[in-house]
Order: sequence, then C-alpha cells, then structure tokens
Amino acid sequence: MPGREVQNLKGSTVAEDAIEEFASSLRGALLRPDDDGYEATRIVWNGMIDRSPGLIARCSGVADVISAVNFARVNDLLVAIRGGGHSIPGHSACDGGLMIDLSLMKGVWVDEKARTARAQGGVTWGELDRETQVFGLATPGGVISTTGIAGLTLGGGVGWLVRKHGLSCDNLISVDIVTADGQLLRASADENPDLFWALRGGGGNFGVATSFEFRLHSQGTVMGGLVLHPRAKAKEVLSFFRDFMATAPDELTAYCGLLTAPDGVPVVGIIGCYSGPLEAGEAAMRPLREFGLPVADLIGPIPHTQMQSLLDAGFPYGNQNYWRSTFLNGLSDELFDVLIEHAGRMASPLSALVIEHYGGAESRVGESETAFPHRGLQYDLNIIASWTDPAENEQHIQWARDLSQAAQPFAADGVYVNFLGDEGEDRVRTSFGKNYDRLVEIKKKYDPTNLFRLNQNIKPA
Ligand SMILES: Cc1cc2nc3c(=O)[nH]c(=O)nc-3n(C[C@H](O)[C@H](O)[C@H](O)COP(=O)(O)OP(=O)(O)OC[C@H]3O[C@@H](n4cnc5c(N)ncnc54)[C@H](O)[C@@H]3O)c2cc1C
Repeated sequence: MPGREVQNLKGSTVAEDAIEEFASSLRGALLRPDDDGYEATRIVWNGMIDRSPGLIARCSGVADVISAVNFARVNDLLVAIRGGGHSIPGHSACDGGLMIDLSLMKGVWVDEKARTARAQGGVTWGELDRETQVFGLATPGGVISTTGIAGLTLGGGVGWLVRKHGLSCDNLISVDIVTADGQLLRASADENPDLFWALRGGGGNFGVATSFEFRLHSQGTVMGGLVLHPRAKAKEVLSFFRDFMATAPDELTAYCGLLTAPDGVPVVGIIGCYSGPLEAGEAAMRPLREFGLPVADLIGPIPHTQMQSLLDAGFPYGNQNYWRSTFLNGLSDELFDVLIEHAGRMASPLSALVIEHYGGAESRVGESETAFPHRGLQYDLNIIASWTDPAENEQHIQWARDLSQAAQPFAADGVYVNFLGDEGEDRVRTSFGKNYDRLVEIKKKYDPTNLFRLNQNIKPA
C-alpha cells in the first residue's frame, strides 16, 4: 500500500494543509490509501489493472467535480476520471495523483413528454435503462449493463440499437462538462458547438462530463437472443452471418462469435436483437433459427432490459483482460479461415473473438458531423483474451497479439477508440481518423496543458 504522501507530476509533495482544505470543501469524500472504502473504489473492471491513486475524490455533484479539477490543476496532479470503470486499458485509474470518481453521481431525470433523459456521469447503462423503461423508452447503449454511460458515450457507443437509432453519441442533446479551467460548460448544438462536436467520439480528452442529455425512443419487448452451433460448423455459420446481415433491416443488429460454452464445449454463436414489432421480428429472425442444426436456439421475445444484460455473466469484474480490435474491410472466406485457425488455439474458455456488425442509422451520419469518424466501416473484429490466473498472462496476451497480426491483411484503416488498448500514438490517430487535426485544435482550446491525459490522448501541442 502506498504511503500518505501525494506527489505531483514534477515529483514534489503536495502540502498536507492543502489536501485537508480540499477534503473539507467536498460534499462527497476524499479517500486516502488507509481510509475505509479506498480499496473498493480504486478497483476497476479489468483485473490486470492494479493502480493506487494518491487521492480519490468521491464526487457528490458538480461542485465537487469543480473543486477536484481546480485542486488537480493548481497542484499539478496526474488525473484519472472514473465513470463506469470499464476502460479496458485502465484509463480511469492512476498510480499516485487524483482519481476523480463519479460513481456516486447516479441521478437520472426522464422527461416522458419531451422523450429525453438527463443522467449523471456515474450512471451505468443498466441504471439508465431501468429509469427510461418505466416509460417504455430507451436510448442506444452498450451490450453490457454494468458499463458506464460516460466513457462509452464519449467514445461513440455501439449496441443493439446502433442500426436503428445510431451510436449513443448520435443521441446526445447536450453534455454538462467541467473543463480544465474549472468552468462548468454546457455543450450542445447551440452552446459551445465545437466542444459538443468533440465530445461525440473524442473520448475523455476535454473535461469531466458531469451529465448527459439523451434523446429517447419507444422501446419495449424485443425479439432477441442467441443461437449456438458446434465450432466444427464455424465456416458455414460465419458465411451465413455475412449473407444474413447483408440484407438485414435497420431494426436488426447481430454479432457472431467463436467462443466456449459454459460446459466447456467450443461453439460458434450468433446473437441478435430485433427492435420493432414482434411479428416482423419473428420473420426477420426465422432464417437465423432455421439455418443448420443449432445445438441451442435461445431466441424469443424478451424485455429490452433483459436483452441489455444477456451477456453480463460473461464479463464479470476482476478477470484478467487483454483485448485487440480493428474495423474490417469486409468478411472474406480467407478471413474466416484465419479466425477459425486462431480460435482453435484459444487457451482460455473465457476468451472469444467476435465480429460486430454496425451500419444502418449509424452509417448515415457524416464522417465529420461528429468526432466519431468510422461511419463507412460496418464490421468490427474484437479479440477478447480473458482469463483468471495472472500467472498465465503471457500466453493469453500472445494469443490476442498473434491473431491481431494475422488479421492485419483484412483490417480497415480504423479502430474504435473505446476498444483500443495502450497501443501507441499511431493507433490513437487511427482511432480518430480524419477528425484528428480538428480534435487537436479543440483540445488546445479547452485543455491546453493536457490536464486530462489518461485516455486515448489527443496531445494539445
Ligand atoms: C465488458 C465491456 C463491455 C463493453 N461493451 C461495449 C459495447 O457494447 N459498446 C461500446 O461501444 N463499448 C463497449 N465497451 C467499451 C466501453 O465503451 C469503454 O470501455 C468505455 O470507455 C467504458 O466507459 P466507462 O465509463 O465504463 O469507463 P471508465 O473506465 O470509467 O472510463 C473510460 C474512459 O472515459 C473517461 N471518462 C469516464 N467518465 C468520464 C467523464 N464523466 N467525463 C470525461 N471522461 C470520462 C475515462 O477517463 C477513461 O479515459 C465495453 C467494455 C467492456 C469492458
């Protein structure tokens, strides 16, 4: 456990009386390594990340966030912003410095008539869905209910409604954000529009987002679930998936994965969600259910919230995780051969490789309309190495790297910023694509000293 001394970025110790004054200014709590609750709060989703902040500010509201940003700036501290804690490379945790923790900020206000919701920066997708579903409404979120709305939306946000209603960030109306100078700004189409543009895909580079206002859509029971086939049928199932999605309506989003069933049997599965009238959903899903001889067909009418948490059990807190990802130029038979070969070498039953299909409403937004640039790329490959024993790290990381390398000939020039690891500056640029230079200008304006640097970092200089 680290000591109580807090060092700044220049290696000097922050004065105790300054820390005490900061602590007493907060409505929430300031945690130090020997305080109750510190251990539980410093932990993030990926068990590979084991960082110990010098201070954790558990913010209760906007005023606490302003105090924390000012304290960090004045004292030259490394800053980590924690929303839902799901950053795969662990960008919401820091060694030393200050973690600005929003996980107590859980407010959600739904306006049924206007079909909008405002949610605070510590809310997860499961929590937002719970509040909006009371009114039969939802906004597009991620596919795991424990992921934070903050990090996911700021990077883009893909999930079961991506083809029908676009990315999460496409459904933003406004964001309240505390910038590096300690000001609370509203970013929307009318207020600070440059910042609003950057917040829709530019990640956590521009400040601490304290709340998000989303457009909501009617959403109730969906036709959703998964079908599983023996892994030996992987090539046929992958080819079927390619043809099936080529003519899919916007209401249907589906992913195809090579994984291991809970009983240890290697399988290939397609998980899909049809958001629309159930009869039309039955018809749209029929070819998927009638293809081949599935070992399991778990597709049926289910509540939106059940669809949104269907995969939760496969992504618990605390496992070791190393992911690689890339957009694909398309789905070729040669790519399938590579995927099947490497899936055969997957040494952990918790690992998987998944092809996600986007397009639809998401792809009808212009590449420079928001900071998220990859509007024309429909297929995304996620290589998910996941295991429990840290002694096995090297083996599973190498598996993910080898497959990532082997998939290169099929990779498009693009990577989704929210699936990117710590892979160097070139990959960060690739994640922002043609919007990178404009993002640098906006970063210079709102965070000229790069106070917010623990992210897929856009350097102001
Ligand atoms: C199990 C799992 C499932 C996932 N599924 C999906 C999915 O279906 N769709 C998808 O699009 N992505 C998905 N992702 C990727 C996910 O979008 C990113 O990991 C995202 O950054 C998580 O956001 P968070 O708030 O939970 O994470 P955090 O770790 O808290 O934050 C992630 C990044 O955002 C910054 N940040 C967080 N909160 C704020 C804030 N309030 N203001 C400013 N910056 C902030 C952090 O500093 C950090 O850089 C998944 C990730 C995991 C681990």
